[in-house]
Amino acid sequence: MGGTTAALSILAPSKHPLSSTPTTDELLLHDPPNPSTALLSSSDHSPSPPRDSRTTILFISLLLITSIAVAASAAFAFLFFSSSSASSRSSQIPISHESIARPLTKLRNPVVLLVSSDGFRFGYQFKTPTPNIGRLIANGTEAEAGLIPVFPTLTFPNHYSIVTGLYPAHHGIINNLFFDPGTGDFFTMQSHEPKWWLGEPLWETVVNNGRKAATYFWPGSEVKKGSWDCPDNYCLHYNGSVRFEDRVDAVLGYFDLPSDEIPAFMTLYFEDPDHQGHKVGPDDPEITAAVANIDRMIGRLIEGLEKRGVFEDVSIIMVGDHGMVGTCDKKLIFLEDLAQWIEIPKTWVHSYSPLLAIRPPPGVSPSDVVAKMNEGLKSGKVDNGNNLRVFLKEDLPGRLHYAASDRIPPIIGLIEEGFKVEQKNAKRKECGGAHGYDNAVFSMRSIFIGHGPQFARGRKVPSFENVQIYNLVTSILKINGAANNGTLSFPNSVLLASP
Ligand SMILES: [Zn+2]
Repeated sequence: MGGTTAALSILAPSKHPLSSTPTTDELLLHDPPNPSTALLSSSDHSPSPPRDSRTTILFISLLLITSIAVAASAAFAFLFFSSSSASSRSSQIPISHESIARPLTKLRNPVVLLVSSDGFRFGYQFKTPTPNIGRLIANGTEAEAGLIPVFPTLTFPNHYSIVTGLYPAHHGIINNLFFDPGTGDFFTMQSHEPKWWLGEPLWETVVNNGRKAATYFWPGSEVKKGSWDCPDNYCLHYNGSVRFEDRVDAVLGYFDLPSDEIPAFMTLYFEDPDHQGHKVGPDDPEITAAVANIDRMIGRLIEGLEKRGVFEDVSIIMVGDHGMVGTCDKKLIFLEDLAQWIEIPKTWVHSYSPLLAIRPPPGVSPSDVVAKMNEGLKSGKVDNGNNLRVFLKEDLPGRLHYAASDRIPPIIGLIEEGFKVEQKNAKRKECGGAHGYDNAVFSMRSIFIGHGPQFARGRKVPSFENVQIYNLVTSILKINGAANNGTLSFPNSVLLASP
């Protein structure tokens, strides 16, 4: 039970450095006001282009002064960061002097291509040369310390938060597998009935606004819901054996359509490096090779877009759904070890690790179960007991937004990073990787890179939660979106203003 004090810290939110991670709203509040955004948002209200020459001169001088001010602050920031950071990558980044979005040159309307590399933990981009991802970063906007996933940091909940802007309690996909006590039905990753998938995903929003969408795999994309009927050739049915190259080429094919028919929104999904991460953990040559391969796919995409003359016109948003942490057999907690305090039968447990979710049968008081489990875990008599703390879902830290759905079982356990809960000691020896932990854990972070006409070149923005991406996409496409948990003003802090 070594290192229990450090391990406990995550379970006592007020003491853990990451648990005090500011919410996006706080981040936005504490952000220094962005001079370019401020300037341009005020220009939203200016009625029309200047009419006489005096106004023109005034306008140009104002623009000039502002550009000088922006350039000066950028230069200062550059000097500050290059002197305080030894990273050779950051010193190569061209500094953005831009404040206004670049006009489209070939496409008639904005197009967003949303790319997900599953389990692309923040920092993987430094494992090996990634010239193509590096090109998007250098010429685009990056979340400086990665993209913050939603809790639980699992694939389906996060992918669906990215496209709906909703926390899992609100979009309904509260785990990769779960049970709905209202209907008695089980959700699996193959469930495509619309009753499970709440909220309005981006493909539906795009169609509602009279434009086309195309999905090359994304959780929820095959669900026929509202105006989205998963049309042939524009909505690919999931098949993990399709080569990554073929996925990229199919997406590129949409750009061969007449300009008016090119979908405004497209998704592209890769299972790697999540697939390898579970097998070997995040620090293994297999991960390095998988990251290099994803970079090659991004290279293939860029090359294809360049060949069609649309690379600078397309808004590419590259994300991952969550990170990855190494797990090993010494970091296990067995529920059977709690028997002295309370028996937890297998049938009560809806998921073990890294999200422990327990639904006791009617007649058993959840708060009694929580009290007895925590008594045992804190007794010092349960191996690794201090690395698990159990909550009634309504008592979980509010920042996790994980209570407001009947689908979420009443008892949730937060497990320390890298630890796993199992029913009983099977004396197995195994090491691998996992994700699903508290979203304040840094290893659960993924990446956010935006490249295109509305993303400043070489710009870093503070990390933010992935529920902000929905508003970002509708803002780029200039379409009306549905209500969601993102901040309406968020796009102003990341995007260049429209010309
Ligand atoms: Zn995933």
